[in-house]
Amino acid sequence: LESYRGRHVVVLGLARSGVAAAKLFHGVGADVVVNDKKEREQCPEADELTALGISVVCGHHPDGLVTGETALLVKNPGIPYSAPPIVAAQKLGVEVVSEVEVAGQLSPAPIIGITGSNGKTTTTTLTGALLEAAGLKPLVAGNIGRPLSEAAAEISADGWLVAELSSFQLKGTSEFRPRIACLLNLAETHLDYHGTMEDYVGSKVKLFDNQTSEDVAIYNEDDETCRRLAESFKGMKMPFSVTRQLAQGVFVDPPYPDIKPAEGEPVLERWIIHRVEGKPDQRIIRADEIGIPGRHNVANALAAIAIALAAGARPDSLIEPLRDFRGVEHRLEFVGTFGGVKFYNDSKATNPMATTMSILSLPAPLILIAGGLDRGSDYMELLPVFRDRLKGLAAIGETREKFGRVAALSGLASVKIVEPVEDAEQTLRRAVEEAAAMAAPGDIVLLSPACASWDMFASYEVRGRIFKQSAHTL
Ligand code: ADP
Repeated sequence: LESYRGRHVVVLGLARSGVAAAKLFHGVGADVVVNDKKEREQCPEADELTALGISVVCGHHPDGLVTGETALLVKNPGIPYSAPPIVAAQKLGVEVVSEVEVAGQLSPAPIIGITGSNGKTTTTTLTGALLEAAGLKPLVAGNIGRPLSEAAAEISADGWLVAELSSFQLKGTSEFRPRIACLLNLAETHLDYHGTMEDYVGSKVKLFDNQTSEDVAIYNEDDETCRRLAESFKGMKMPFSVTRQLAQGVFVDPPYPDIKPAEGEPVLERWIIHRVEGKPDQRIIRADEIGIPGRHNVANALAAIAIALAAGARPDSLIEPLRDFRGVEHRLEFVGTFGGVKFYNDSKATNPMATTMSILSLPAPLILIAGGLDRGSDYMELLPVFRDRLKGLAAIGETREKFGRVAALSGLASVKIVEPVEDAEQTLRRAVEEAAAMAAPGDIVLLSPACASWDMFASYEVRGRIFKQSAHTL
């Protein structure tokens, strides 16, 4: 970053990653301007930066923010490329990057980059635990919590920077090159931001673009799109699969017949195997010993195991952390048993693929609470799991009617469309009561909305916590 001393750098978006980037560039003597469209009162971070002598402009995008003299524009991943300062920068030939690109240039430690449509946080968290147990000094950051550039400035060369990366963050990279890159799966989500599936997929594969044969490329062999994309990966390929034995990579033996579990399937002892061509197979752990439920979580574990092995972990160091892993809050989180009914909080399931996996991970019959922000999907792909696994549905949010239609077409007897009352908390509380009323002892009530939360709540975390409180106070 030293090359930016005395030069003009614009940071667009005053959130945590923007603050981290502004401090870093200010620290090397760059002339930093931070800009956000939000009013100053909504930017609590502004004071801290102003106190450091960094100039902060809130409330609008001023004309002339970006000039021919600007050396770099660092954008928040959530800001669309159509925002005026970005359009101006691109017209002037000013480089536009995300804070992840900055982190990549800064980190003395090798980087592990994890992306995909679903399972990123689970896999990243588990990877951190596996590397920790193996003594490899991981620092976990990125989309998962603290800004990646902040962690990159802190980590020492003998550690590993473990980065959860969204497609939005990856879109703003150019030379970012992880030593180990991992692509979990690709579903048709986030099309409202990216516009087309090609743009979304293109952003995800940027993770692999700068790799060479010295790097490792880990991907999901069970996902057709991932498999196709992997043909052009340049790093050493290390696929993982729950449905087939691989010539090389990490897989389950005997394989599952499908990525989705089916009723009446025989329970078999399945081992997770690491295979390197020309060497004897290594048995890591039995799939059923992993601390989190569901076949999709076995897939997440395979990815984390592949990463840890690629980073140099000894296979026997992985057993204990795999057994002890209890997952992450709001992801198929067990809330408790109330009136004989088990409650699970899966508020983080914000697309139909995630909800499908969660429904299939729990024993039927289930009463589902779903619905939320309307992004234009029709949710018909949920019809088979609704038909086979659900006993009832309580639908909330903008998409409540759409879920009601899917439930009706799948022949569900108990369907309740919960009309919104004044505050969202009460609406969700009512949905929990409706769901509980449909349940008999032994049943499961699952919040797995298949939609983002912003039509009703500030975040999926808020939604999940209200769900948990409501269940506790039934
Ligand atoms: P992300 O960080 O990518 O959003 P999370 O680990 O937070 O992923 O999991 C979000 C939700 O996605 C979980 O609640 C679960 O329902 C679903 N999920 C997790 N892993 C997978 C997977 N490998 N395939 C499909 N769905 C998954």
